[in-house]
Amino acid sequence: MIVPMETESLPVDRIRQDFPILQRRIRGHRLIYLDSAATSQKPESVINAELDAYRKFNANVHRGAYLIAEEATAAYEGARKKIARFLNAPDPSSIIFTRGTTEAINLVAYSWGWSHLKPGDQILITEMEHHSNIVPWQLIAERTGASLAVVPILDDGTLDLEALDRLLTERVKLVAVTHVSNVLGTINPIKEICEKARQVGATTLVDGAQAAPHLSVDVTALGCDFYALSGHKMLGPTGSGVLYGRKEILEAMPPFLGGGEMIRTVTFEKTTFNDVPYKFEAGTPAIAQAIGLGAAVDYLEAVGRERIRAHEKALTAYALTRLQEIPELTIYGKAPPDGRGGVIAFNAGDIHPHDLATFLDAYGICIRAGHHCAQPLMRRLNVAATARISFYLYNDEDDIDTCTTALKKALEFFGR
Ligand code: PLP
Repeated sequence: MIVPMETESLPVDRIRQDFPILQRRIRGHRLIYLDSAATSQKPESVINAELDAYRKFNANVHRGAYLIAEEATAAYEGARKKIARFLNAPDPSSIIFTRGTTEAINLVAYSWGWSHLKPGDQILITEMEHHSNIVPWQLIAERTGASLAVVPILDDGTLDLEALDRLLTERVKLVAVTHVSNVLGTINPIKEICEKARQVGATTLVDGAQAAPHLSVDVTALGCDFYALSGHKMLGPTGSGVLYGRKEILEAMPPFLGGGEMIRTVTFEKTTFNDVPYKFEAGTPAIAQAIGLGAAVDYLEAVGRERIRAHEKALTAYALTRLQEIPELTIYGKAPPDGRGGVIAFNAGDIHPHDLATFLDAYGICIRAGHHCAQPLMRRLNVAATARISFYLYNDEDDIDTCTTALKKALEFFGR
């Protein structure tokens, strides 16, 4: 575990030592991981928290009458409390553990959406959404007779807020919007959007997959009704995620999945349901993963989220400057470092992004190539795919320099 830090800037070399995978060498090179928007690496403390859950107190939660089961329950519920504090949620019972953002959004779609939407209603999303904030709404729209409306983006990769105002009519029952785009990096004005949605009586869901790991998220200040995040993108284990929901709304919602844990009484005639959050956690949950996510929150808080944000902002500014040295590159999304997260998507002339990623891999550099689960956005950008680099607290300017040099070599290699 890292020691508390006395300086303002992040001691990246020391942070890297906490991440076993970053000690690996790839084909003779230091591993340079520039794909944290897909999934983040995990520090030793998170790996150990998960291992300890299996090694020391592996038991099912909420039902054991013996010590290790009580310990497992305390650790699992302790993680819920940490996450509530991390998001400034008013109450741990408004935190539901899910497998990730996708499951959190589906939970809202199938529980809230199915029970609230009717023909003629609209679900307002944006052109920069990830598929996981598009497809669940399409599925639920088909079942309920509601329809989807889409806020377009401007050429600079920010949301067209005038269009949002036009589209936000009384027909809109839900506004589902990403906090940070996983392609453009744009940080959306969530507080303002939630306020506007409230004025027409719409419920709000924020996809926080790319925001919670990097920004100081305060769900109370944002004023959203739901906030979804993925634990694995914020140093936590895969299979961990969270849905925050406003308590009154969660209490009024029907269950999502049925089974053990989520019930109070069951007869063949009728079942009554448990209180929130348990009503939404049917079956044995991902116990060790949730505990690991709690350890991830501890780690992020020990480093300091403001400092992580400042570091990533500086790194993004530096990366944008370095990448602009290469005239063949087209960078998608023009929000300034202040208004964007640590994500940069680009193409290098007509070199296929997959070829670029494979070329960089030979230097131990991991980048993402593809449509980033945002095909409608790719269509808007008029591309089939892009390359993407994304940063976290363990990246530094050296990583960017090595990546820039490798990109220049790639252009030479491919004869551009
Ligand atoms: N939303 C955004 C903006 C994302 O970037 C991602 C993952 O890349 C998701 C949702 C889906 O997250 P998960 O696959 O963890 O459910």
